[in-house]
Amino acid sequence: MFRPNITAMQGYVPGEQPRGMEFVKLNTNENPFPCSPAVKAAIGRVCQSGLQRYPDPMATAFRERAAELFKHEVPGITPDWILCGNGSDDILTIVTRSFVAPGGLIRFPRPSYILYNTLAAIQGAESETVDFKSDWTLGSAFTAANERLQLAFLPNPNSPTGTVIAPDKVAKLAAALPCPLIVDEAYADFATTNCLGLVAENERVIVTRTLSKSYSLAGLRFGFAVAQPQIIEQLIKVKDSYNCDSLSIAGATAAIDDQAYFAKTRDAIIATRERMTGALRGLGFECIDSQANFVWCRHGKRESRDLYQQLKDAGVLVRYMNYAGWGEGLRISVGSDEQCDLLLAKLGGMV
Ligand SMILES: *Cc1c(COP(=O)(O)O)cnc(C)c1O
Repeated sequence: MFRPNITAMQGYVPGEQPRGMEFVKLNTNENPFPCSPAVKAAIGRVCQSGLQRYPDPMATAFRERAAELFKHEVPGITPDWILCGNGSDDILTIVTRSFVAPGGLIRFPRPSYILYNTLAAIQGAESETVDFKSDWTLGSAFTAANERLQLAFLPNPNSPTGTVIAPDKVAKLAAALPCPLIVDEAYADFATTNCLGLVAENERVIVTRTLSKSYSLAGLRFGFAVAQPQIIEQLIKVKDSYNCDSLSIAGATAAIDDQAYFAKTRDAIIATRERMTGALRGLGFECIDSQANFVWCRHGKRESRDLYQQLKDAGVLVRYMNYAGWGEGLRISVGSDEQCDLLLAKLGGMV
């Protein structure tokens, strides 16, 4: 009954979300802090109103506030430059369905976000990965001509490495590519640069963001894309009519309105990230400098898979990742200072 590509594909396996036993959970890059109190208040008000009406299909309240927030980074931005989604994964699905035909080709770096591969498989398209160079940038293989190439994804900062390609280099990649470039900025709030400004210069650059990580709202499901209005206009045709619900629109809007809370929690995570990186190195780990809310590392003497299991047995969940043909390691989310201390204490007894 199924299309052959569906039967043949592996489904996407998200990081473990254990029910029951309490873990120190450092495996899916969630924020250790709860969301802003303003979010809970806004959601409470929507609940009071009854919920019998459909939500605003375009999440206008959020788009207006976001356009205001980004006006210095994106010259000329208005709400028509923004498309909201049920998490940024929804936006990634919308762009894949919009640009990629069955038999087409999607290109992305290796190692990067595993979902891109899944989206290609569902679409009946082919995936092509391009390895990073030793300085974590991408060479000409990433922009090479291919008549089947219809979409390129670039997570920036990248997951699982936490590395960033500078905006001027991303601009060159976008200019050289024959297809749209999705710059997946799920972690950009933890970085020193971002590519929002490129959207105004090149209509083939689409930047995606999420409130799951830096705004502590993984449970709410809200993400968005920023692109030129003629691009957003086409993408709107492909989205589900009511892809964001009333609660998430109200909560997300309140979250971006509380920039003081956002900045305070983000700064705390960045400080803990730097401390955690130094301490891991002190324990014999090779860590890449991260501009995200996680650190990618390998121990000089111990197998990553064994350490993952030992930590799990000790009640600490981290993400073990193995990229066929590339290598493996541990991706450890930056938690609270207490969680980080516990992780380091456990590791101290293992390595
Ligand atoms: C977490 C993540 C997303 C998706 O976030 P949502 O929770 O769906 O908004 C997208 N891209 C990357 C690289 C991520 O790590």
